[in-house]
Amino acid sequence: MLKGYDITIGLEVHCELNTKTKVFCGCKNEFGGEANAHTCPVCLGMPGMLPVLNKQAVEKCILAGFATNCTINDIAHMDRKNYFYPDSPKAYQISQLYHPLCSEGLVKFSYTDDTGSEKQSQVRIERIHLEEDAGKSIHDAWGKSSLLDFNRCGVPLIEIVTYPDMTSAEQTCAFFEALRARLRFAGVSDCKMQEGSLRADVNLSIKPIGSDTLGTRTEMKNLNSVKAIYRAIKSEAKRQAEELSQGKRIIQETRRWDDNKGKSLRMRSKEEANDYRYFPDPDLTPIAVDEKWKSELKKSLPEMPDAKMQRYINEYSLPEYDSGILTSDPDISNFFEETLKHTKNIKSVSNFIMVDMLRIIKEREVEFSDVCFAPADLAQLINSVDNGIINISTAKTTVLEAMFSGEGSPDNIIVAKGLKQMGNENELLSIVRAVIDENPTPVQQYKEGKQQVIGFLMGQVMKKTQGKAKPDTVMALFKKELN
Ligand SMILES: [Zn+2]
Repeated sequence: MLKGYDITIGLEVHCELNTKTKVFCGCKNEFGGEANAHTCPVCLGMPGMLPVLNKQAVEKCILAGFATNCTINDIAHMDRKNYFYPDSPKAYQISQLYHPLCSEGLVKFSYTDDTGSEKQSQVRIERIHLEEDAGKSIHDAWGKSSLLDFNRCGVPLIEIVTYPDMTSAEQTCAFFEALRARLRFAGVSDCKMQEGSLRADVNLSIKPIGSDTLGTRTEMKNLNSVKAIYRAIKSEAKRQAEELSQGKRIIQETRRWDDNKGKSLRMRSKEEANDYRYFPDPDLTPIAVDEKWKSELKKSLPEMPDAKMQRYINEYSLPEYDSGILTSDPDISNFFEETLKHTKNIKSVSNFIMVDMLRIIKEREVEFSDVCFAPADLAQLINSVDNGIINISTAKTTVLEAMFSGEGSPDNIIVAKGLKQMGNENELLSIVRAVIDENPTPVQQYKEGKQQVIGFLMGQVMKKTQGKAKPDTVMALFKKELN
């Protein structure tokens, strides 16, 4: 919240499509690799070379349109956006200005605002257009030279432009996450921000509370994490308010966000579309999207996260909160659904994934896709708890941690580490008696009616058995011995 002002935010999101090849040539579309290994005369902009449009890229752009409830236009054109920059050898980018593939979409989502209350929200999509990515300049830190890697040149990209419908950092980040989830579920991109396959530019302006006139906006570039988007919005809104309070004007400009310094710096004055001398690309014919193609693509769109979440609530009787987490990412929901093929304990699968697996993933700073064991292994672990072979706390800590470290199946880990639960009454009785003898004071307190002391005594048995004692058997033995 900014005192005295309303914030207005719009996003431009760039997303690299996960096609096999680039958008206008047959070069591999792959992250990394030796510099300039994935290039050819077309993507290097050699004279006389002609682009051939990749059908898969068009289809993925249309799928992104369906995933965000856009209208798919019958006719789309490719245009040239002219500018000189060292990482773009053609000196123009092929994009879509006048007739994009998708327009007028809508994404609904919920979020927690800065006062902690839960809100329903929606953001309108103005357009989604198909274009090509540029190469990368690598600046030599020691000498004075810059090197160029054109591997990314011609990688298919979609740009998703929203209307300025957002008013806070919290709302913008929640929208961005909802959009990212939709693109991931649609299967059009891996959306890895750390590899640059998903990037956002933030347009932001402020105006006095209640005013109908929008303020002058700035555009912030180089936002490569959700946290950076959040911090950049907070910082830029504050900067603009400070400028205005000092009687200064906001200048329409492009700013670069520096996440290390936690502030944005002026890059250049904002360019308008006519600065780029756009014109229809004479080398590429218009794209005609007929009804048959549209309906085939629409049918092939995988289940979207909101529909999936509703299905989990209805089909598996899971709480809304749990369903929301399980459907926040396709890697998580796939793992969940696969695990259910091997066990009937739905609630336990849900708990293991959303509480314990996500905790370990966070601690180890990895991604869900890095999980090295199979859904069937998680089911085996849950079944060993349900069958009384190990207790739940051993399963959630020792065994699950070992599974994450690649130590094999739960059954093997349980045997190798000797974790099998001790359920033998005679064996446990001698331990229970020893604990009673060693702890006269708590035992006395228990006898005087202080029931909660039993927890301490149970703990002592667990200590002596390395957590392997069967809790309900131990509890029963204590009650028998002490009463
Ligand atoms: Zn190429």
